[in-house]
Amino acid sequence: MQVIERVAELAGALDAERAAGHGVGLVPTMGALHAGHASLIARAARECDVVATTVFVNPLQFGPGEDYDAYPRHLDADLAAAEKAGATLVFAPGPADMFPAERRTWVHVGGLGDVLEGASRPGHLDGVATVVAKLFALAGPCRAFFGDKDYQQLVVVRRLVADLSFPVAVVACPTVRDVDGLALSSRNRYLGVDERAAAPVLFRALRAGAASILAGELDPAEVSLLVAAIVEAEPLVTLDYAEVVDAATLEVPEKLEGELRLLLAARLGATRLVDNVGVRVPA
Ligand code: AMP
Repeated sequence: MQVIERVAELAGALDAERAAGHGVGLVPTMGALHAGHASLIARAARECDVVATTVFVNPLQFGPGEDYDAYPRHLDADLAAAEKAGATLVFAPGPADMFPAERRTWVHVGGLGDVLEGASRPGHLDGVATVVAKLFALAGPCRAFFGDKDYQQLVVVRRLVADLSFPVAVVACPTVRDVDGLALSSRNRYLGVDERAAAPVLFRALRAGAASILAGELDPAEVSLLVAAIVEAEPLVTLDYAEVVDAATLEVPEKLEGELRLLLAARLGATRLVDNVGVRVPA
């Protein structure tokens, strides 16, 4: 497996692969790789000839006071995990090489990037869109694999690709969960024992919300209240938001029908987790 640490070297390496007739898969990550990331890499390896996994803790998507400094960084373990999952190349640039001090450009995806996570973490999705745009520009034509786990990010990235005509096919991959339902996340390792035991309430609440919709609930506010009540019954968990939205526009619909997404964010001590599920109500 090839490791590239210099921004200037990635485009040439992937151009050479395409020139040799190889289709390129791209799996952007912030490292601290777990089985969720591995599922993206393995899928990319099944669908593409070469798989470039990026490992970069993106400073632009962290707000002041967030966990940028504390975010787990274990490059050696990530290289081993990426190779085991089927990566043929890891791109792990340094922050100053990726975003030199003179950088002035931000990518803002209006509307989609301003609600939900965008409302709770102002600028977060601009940071995501900016780094993903740069990765797409460096990678060139490829298939890019993203997790449903960060559903809003996926919607923002799809819009970015369409609006700026990146030659990229975005592939959505299902959320990998622990046996008790907790979505795998690099941040789960921050959880204390009691917090970890409480955390599956997030998925339980989302499933209860989805079940209420499938049982005929038509009012998004009622679903949000139900999900919130289940989460808030767990004393170690503080809900940030729970919303049911149109899966494509991320807007709260008047009536619950079509492709919907229930999303929530919550804090367990200092750790903030997100999760979501999809629900389809035939119109
Ligand atoms: P991150 O390193 O957290 O920025 O995530 C990198 C990619 O892995 C994103 O596309 C995430 O949506 C995806 N991902 C993270 N956790 C999971 C999971 N539990 N299941 C599937 N994909 C995931």
